[in-house]
Amino acid sequence: MSDVIHTDVVIVGAGPTGLFAVFELGLLDIKCHLVDILDRPGGQCAELYPEKPIYDIPGYPVISGADLTRNLMEQIKPFGPTFHFGHMVTELKKHGEADFELKTDGDLTFRCKVVVIAAGGGSFQPKKPPIPGIEHYEEKSVFYAVRKMEAFRGKDVLIIGGGDSALDWTNNLQPIARSMTLLHRREEFRAAPDSVNKMRELVAEGKMQLKFGQVTGLKGENGELAAAVVKGNDGQAFEVKTNAVLPFFGLTMKLGPIADWGLNLHENLIPVDTEKFETNIPGIFAIGDINHYPGKLKLILSGFHEGALMAQQAFRTINPGARLMFQYTTSSTNLQRKLGVAE
Ligand SMILES: Cc1cc2nc3c(=O)[nH]c(=O)nc-3n(C[C@H](O)[C@H](O)[C@H](O)COP(=O)(O)OP(=O)(O)OC[C@H]3O[C@@H](n4cnc5c(N)ncnc54)[C@H](O)[C@@H]3O)c2cc1C
Repeated sequence: MSDVIHTDVVIVGAGPTGLFAVFELGLLDIKCHLVDILDRPGGQCAELYPEKPIYDIPGYPVISGADLTRNLMEQIKPFGPTFHFGHMVTELKKHGEADFELKTDGDLTFRCKVVVIAAGGGSFQPKKPPIPGIEHYEEKSVFYAVRKMEAFRGKDVLIIGGGDSALDWTNNLQPIARSMTLLHRREEFRAAPDSVNKMRELVAEGKMQLKFGQVTGLKGENGELAAAVVKGNDGQAFEVKTNAVLPFFGLTMKLGPIADWGLNLHENLIPVDTEKFETNIPGIFAIGDINHYPGKLKLILSGFHEGALMAQQAFRTINPGARLMFQYTTSSTNLQRKLGVAE
């Protein structure tokens, strides 16, 4: 058995919410370990849209998912959080009266006073289209996320889907792809009307093709695609020349092991109060996309706000009876010392 890691707080998930929680907890002298299934920080921002611009982060008129993640990492550096990437938290249970014990699939064990679940959509996995043999092309010619736009430069790209990701990547990759085809099974799109209009303009200008139907097969060798076989909505089969297919069929919101931790659930989300963002188990908090309360918006800024309020209660749990003083970072020398910007 591995050594037990003792810490104040374990944060499950290193998405934007989990990262900013380190900052708010750090200001209150609370030390954190973060665990994430992914191999790097940033959650959805890093995994699903690192190069896409985000326009609704306060103070940043525009910032990419990757830059937001980089800035958050810089901001929390003074607090020295410890990251455990490539680990899924599988078990969470009480340990004695006041502590919790967590275990990961990579054989790590933690004991802590407070657990912060910042697990977003849970262990999110892309939904795969039912195309025979697709697994032979995955990560070579079939991709479920765009990690680096440059990887698609000069490629014959086929994007499948009608939601936001499909339309956004169609519009963003079209300028660098050699050819771009968007395939959707029907004429209505779920994506934002702006993105749909932009795509239709590209089609009208002859810069890309829009087709309706479903992929029934893939042609290629050794994982390198040459074409996709499509059954059109009129029943006719045709081929689309492609060496890069991006199916965007949405993500499965699998809660994964979190479902077994004795927490109340509401449609795979964790209900919390809106004062402390605490779950039905005192000492376990849920912030960001994973939580549920009346009026919840799944926005990054909501996760930041929730982390700030959670930290206040986490302090009280970790330091029973201690006085908690509200301070501004602009005027508190004490906070500035913690941030390493004052003597
Ligand atoms: C295409 C797209 C565009 C978007 N655009 C915007 C936008 O413009 N503005 C905006 O505010 N929001 C936007 N969002 C939403 C935003 O990305 C989410 O609100 C945000 O990522 C939620 O952050 P989070 O930290 O709560 O969860 P996530 O970012 O989902 O991170 C959760 C992390 O927890 C990890 N995890 C889950 N379960 C476990 C476990 N058991 N063990 C270990 N790790 C675990 C996951 O691997 C993941 O890395 C967008 C989302 C998408 C998909």
